[in-house]
This record gives sequence, C-alpha cells and structure tokens, in this order.
Amino acid sequence: MNANTTPASLPGQPHIAYANDQLMVEGVRLSDLAREHGTPLFVYSKAAMLSALAAYQRGFAGRNAQICYAMKANSTLAVLQVFAEAGCGFDTVSGGELARVLAAGADPAKVIFSGVGKTRAEMKQALQVGIGCFNVESEAELDVLNEVALGLGQQAPVSLRVNPNVDAKTHPYISTGLKGNKFGIAHEDAMRAYRHATQLPGLKVIGIDCHIGSQITEATPYLDAMDRVMDLVSDIEAAGIPIQHIDFGGGLGINYNGDTPPEADALWAQLLAKLDARGYGQRQLMIEPGRSLVGNAGVCLTEVLYLKPGEQKNFCIVDAAMNDLPRPAMYQAFHQIVPVSPRAARDTQGSTLYDIVGPVCESGDWIGRDRQLRVQAGDTLAVLSAGAYCMSMASNYNTRGRAAEILVDGTQAHLIRQRESVFDTFALEQLV
Ligand SMILES: *Cc1c(COP(=O)(O)O)cnc(C)c1O
Repeated sequence: MNANTTPASLPGQPHIAYANDQLMVEGVRLSDLAREHGTPLFVYSKAAMLSALAAYQRGFAGRNAQICYAMKANSTLAVLQVFAEAGCGFDTVSGGELARVLAAGADPAKVIFSGVGKTRAEMKQALQVGIGCFNVESEAELDVLNEVALGLGQQAPVSLRVNPNVDAKTHPYISTGLKGNKFGIAHEDAMRAYRHATQLPGLKVIGIDCHIGSQITEATPYLDAMDRVMDLVSDIEAAGIPIQHIDFGGGLGINYNGDTPPEADALWAQLLAKLDARGYGQRQLMIEPGRSLVGNAGVCLTEVLYLKPGEQKNFCIVDAAMNDLPRPAMYQAFHQIVPVSPRAARDTQGSTLYDIVGPVCESGDWIGRDRQLRVQAGDTLAVLSAGAYCMSMASNYNTRGRAAEILVDGTQAHLIRQRESVFDTFALEQLV
C-alpha cells in the first residue's frame, strides 16, 4: 500500500478505517465479507449508527424531545431494529413503511406519518394501529382524514406541515421548504388550515411540523425556518389553538466529499438557544433525521469486472450499478470510492483516471467520474457513504436481483438481507 494515496481513516467515518492495509468496518475485514457473501454487498456499522444518534441525544439532553428516524433513508428491518431498541420513534411516508417498522418492533405511538398523498386505506391502517401523529400536508387531506377517523369512531392526532418558505437566494440547495414545491401548507394559509382542522370532530390538533430539505450543510436555513415556525405557533396559540409539539423535520447533511455540515449536537445547541430565547424551549420537540443517522454508517462493496481503456476515458466496470446505487444517476451525487485492499505501486502500471460504471444499459449508469485508482480486474472497491438512500431506492432494473446486506457489530457480521435471486425478481409474474 502506498500511504500517500490511502488515508488510514476515512473522513467523517470513524468506524470505517484501514488497519494493516485492509479496509475494516468496526472489527470486520471487508475483503472477508466480499469473499463470503459476494458482491454487490452493503455493509453497515451498528456503532456508527448509534454514534450518529448519540450526537442528537446529547443535543437534546434534559429536553422533552422525540427523535423519529426518517426510515425512507434506509428501511431494512435490522436497521430499524437498531433504532427502535435505542428508543427512537420513526417518520414514515407510506402504509408499507408503517407495516415494516411495526414488524421491526417499533412502538406505534412513537410513529408519525408524513407525505402529500396518503390514501384512505393508509389512514385507516395508521389509525387502527394507534399511530402517534399524522403530519398533514394539505387542507384537502384534513377533510379526508376527518372522514376516515369518524368512520372508525376515532379522533386522528394531527400536526400540520407548514412550508416556511426559507429564502432560496441565500440557500439555493434547499428544495422542500420553498413556495412552489409540492410539500407542506404555505405559511400564509397555515392559520386558516389550523382553524379548519379544529372544526373537524374527527381530528385532534396536537402539533406543527416543517421539513425544509435534505443534505443541508449550514445552520442558517434551520435557524431561519425555526423563526418562521415560532411566529406561526405564537399566532396559532393567540387564536386559542394550543400546540403541544413542534417538529423540525430532518435534512441535516453528511460529509460525502469534503462537506462540512454542523454536528447534530452543535446545531441543536444553536437551535435550542433560539427556542429558549423565545420561550418555546420546554415544549415537546420532535425531529425527523434520516440521512445523518445512517448515511456514513454504510458502504457498498463491488468487484471490478473489467478495465476498459479508451481514447477519451478509461472505464472501470464494476458489478454494482445504478439499480444498487441510484444517487449518482438520479442527483449526480458524489460517493467516495476506495480499494478494500489497496495495491502496492509495483502491482499495476501506476494509478489511472477512471470513470467507474456499472453493467446497466444506460449511459447514466455511473458510480463515480474521474477517479484516480490503482486497480485490476477482480479487485474489490468500497463505495462510501452508502448507508442512506441507496438500498432503500434500489430496483430490479435490467433484472438484477437486489444486493445482500450485512450489519457489523464489533467483530460480528450479521447477514440481515439475503441476496435477491433472479427468480425472486419475477416470482409474482405469470405467462398468459
Ligand atoms: C425525507 C424526509 C426526512 C428525512 O430527511 P433527511 O435529509 O434524510 O434527514 C424527514 N422528514 C420528512 C417529511 C421527509 O420527507
């Protein structure tokens, strides 16, 4: 290994590091896992998830706060189990997620249900299991939820998701908290929606929520959104509608490529100071982090199939693809890619600039562009920061079975999802 090209520990990922020229997740060698389970293979560190959670828990120490893991980031049962056992609630966005998280052992009273398009069947399912709160995103949804609740002889606990319209000019990367996107109820319509909700006998208004975007790497947009939400809370309560909880959503970013988001505890020290200053610090607080709890807890292992030198580009063709790692194709996102067992300089013709691409028949099927690597066919690479929005977005495109998943806990490696067989991918189909 050339110490100049391979850092011993990977930035932002304390539980994923090189030891004796071997990339490890906690106490387990990734080359061993690739050999035993094949590739592509997702590997998660339980310690990394719990330490990401601990930063939030420190931030909220002494407060009345509920952390609801936004499970769409990674909804694998054993991942949910880690968070349920650590006392988390969950933010769900479909009846499917609700069923899944209950199967993982979640307490339904700590589950909230977000999303702009809840169906009547999903509302009924959530009411029947005793969900903690519906985060309602439109006035029309209030009426439907009221009907469904009355049909069951119940009152649905509701929070209204408001859209704080945080200034896009100063924070152009925020996309869900602005006017003109489909999420939430506009700030200026919020008062009317709250009045409407309190008049519906099947609803019980308990909270307010917002969620301003994802991969946010600065505190300012959160601070701005918090001001806007507190303005609304004071107006709503002045109109005689008590608000029990304030939910600030998720969105805190992670370090993919030199990004420097605030630590969760430092961010919340700032936010709590602002809440205290305005007299809301003792309210029940909720947050919905997704990416920041799991993103840097996972890697995806992939084998180099072919090196394909070219006139303009050199391609390194690997066995993981956009169906396993959709973020580059969907968002032009960046994942670091490193060798699991770095080669000595003498093994290859030096390092080469490659585009790392998968086998799927789309030019959009790339994992990383212009990466300097020292590799040969048969080597295993690790795609970093693959814990969030990878497996949960994976598909069967090109009739590729989805990858297997491993949860590492110390020196133990648990298989938490079997590799999907090709037969699984068409098991529900039939010929006519
Ligand atoms: C996706 C989502 C989250 C989590 O976002 P992250 O960026 O993963 O933290 C939280 N709340 C809602 C309503 C969401 O849609």
